[in-house]
Amino acid sequence: MLKMKKSCEKCDAETGHQDEAYICSYECTFCLSCTEAMHAVCPNCSGELLRRPTRIKNPLEVVASQVKGKLLGK
Ligand SMILES: [Zn+2]
Ligand SMILES: [Zn+2]
Repeated sequence: MLKMKKSCEKCDAETGHQDEAYICSYECTFCLSCTEAMHAVCPNCSGELLRRPTRIKNPLEVVASQVKGKLLGK
């Protein structure tokens, strides 16, 4: 499971689960304005910064519905 960091590593802005945030493959996390300022290149690993998917449900709900799906043979 992706670690959902709650703040930008550069300016400490909040990057909550439903906020727009950008991550590299090492899960360095940055807010939108820092990402734009850095031209979407991670300053830690020089990797590409991509938009992080938002997380609406909490992990337990998701696991529960995955299990339910299996029980119903889907
Ligand atoms: Zn920032
Ligand atoms: Zn990185």
